Amino acid sequence: MNELGSPRLEINLAKIGHNVEKLINIYSKKGIEITGVTKAVCGDPTIAKVLVNKGIQMLADSKIVNIKSMREANVLAKFVLLRTPALSEIDLVVKYATISLNTELSVIKKLSATANRSNSIHKIILMIEMGDLREGIMPVDLDDVIQEVLKLTGVEIVGIGANFACFGGVKPSIANMEELSALASTIEEKFSLPLSYVTGGNSANYNWAVAVKDTGKVNNLRIGESIYLGCETLSRMAIPGLFTDAFTFVAEVIESKIKPSKPYGEIGQDAFGNNPKFEDRGLMRRVILGVGSQDVLVSGLTPKLDIEVLGSSSDHTLLDAKNVDLKIGDEVAFTMTYGALLAAVTSPYVFKKYIDYESIS
Ligand SMILES: *Cc1c(COP(=O)(O)O)cnc(C)c1O
Repeated sequence: MNELGSPRLEINLAKIGHNVEKLINIYSKKGIEITGVTKAVCGDPTIAKVLVNKGIQMLADSKIVNIKSMREANVLAKFVLLRTPALSEIDLVVKYATISLNTELSVIKKLSATANRSNSIHKIILMIEMGDLREGIMPVDLDDVIQEVLKLTGVEIVGIGANFACFGGVKPSIANMEELSALASTIEEKFSLPLSYVTGGNSANYNWAVAVKDTGKVNNLRIGESIYLGCETLSRMAIPGLFTDAFTFVAEVIESKIKPSKPYGEIGQDAFGNNPKFEDRGLMRRVILGVGSQDVLVSGLTPKLDIEVLGSSSDHTLLDAKNVDLKIGDEVAFTMTYGALLAAVTSPYVFKKYIDYESIS
């Protein structure tokens, strides 16, 4: 039994640190600086400090409260708000973020007014829509927006960026990266505006970056998943030399019985309004873990043992234990997808256990 109890997320800080070092090495050879994205770990200051210790200078999160908690925990980095600020959070953004990503003039105007009141300069990166159709200014509108922003005091355009493979699944390619580079050059010339950051994407940019000879003006990527799960995100291929198991999810057996495989009785909807169908595989060892959809994305868990996840309700997860003799109180470990990590880190019911802390501090 573990003193921290279960369900539990085990976080191997040494493996995360190793992944950071490798990624910095890979990307710096291409002239690309990595911004470490902390949103998947809810801005966990312990993990953020590993990123900074290993050489990352800029951290980005989509939630200003996460940035606030990292600052208050003395994480020494520049902080980027990774999403266009909501009008209702502008005060906090100016106070806690060094830079924010922006797409709306009305928001930038309020950032300007708020920064002026506190005699500060808030830096902004303009996000450009390049096909994935999540956030971004349409390229045809870009000149007008820049012209308007240049009239404002208290805000300073320090870069442009684009995002890929998040909503539309659009791949970063040689063509769209060259287009982003070209836009950067045009802006720099037309407005005599040097851009410190041309930020071309996220963990989905890995294949482009290693294959391309010249990354052009793209000098930054915002990387989260590659750091935590050791993969790129277009096909979730492991990146050579990186750990894919820095995070392990652990849950505990609370029932273990031989039962039929096919539910019997009249069938209606399940807990989530689905109409479930099960094939009859005869009797099986059905094991229940004391964890469910309220704690983790169960479909994103892969058992380390040769057993099968049958499904879950809000607080129970069902396993076919096959030939593994799982007893009450036994712990079962899983590797996790990004979705499972996101949910587990966010759940107040999942304990966090840091492993190998000494080796990195
Ligand atoms: C989440 C996010 C990232 C990081 O994505 P990963 O796939 O975790 O590398 C980068 N940029 C923006 C704008 C994001 O929202």
